[in-house]
Amino acid sequence: MPTDCLFCKIAAGEIPAKILHRDERVIAIEDINPQAPTHALVLPVEHHANAGELSDANDPALIARLIEVATALGRAGGEGDRLVMNTGAQGGQTVDHVHVHVLAGRPMHWPPG
Ligand code: 5GP
Ligand code: ZN
Repeated sequence: MPTDCLFCKIAAGEIPAKILHRDERVIAIEDINPQAPTHALVLPVEHHANAGELSDANDPALIARLIEVATALGRAGGEGDRLVMNTGAQGGQTVDHVHVHVLAGRPMHWPPG
């Protein structure tokens, strides 16, 4: 685990967060700067920097679990939702520990900014 990774520290309980879900492999937290009435972040406990590195890790069960938890939170958030994974600076990623944004509870627009 990189010692300076914010989400590793949250997963380890070293930095507080509002925990929405926790199992052996995945946690979900409330985003600190919510962009919708429901704005959750679903992340693996294990560190992977982004979706590409997670894919390279050859662990389809972990990817499936992330999507299962994200879709459950989206369904709970209302009628329709948006799952987002930002990758790299140009993709808008600011925390280099892979996570799925779950946005719900308001109309979503396309294209995103
Ligand atoms: P990204 O920009 O990497 O796609 O998403 C990172 C998300 O993490 C942002 O939406 C940001 O608001 C959220 N975030 C940043 N720092 C913290 C924190 O300390 N706690 C929580 N719960 N969310 C955070
Ligand atoms: Zn990490």
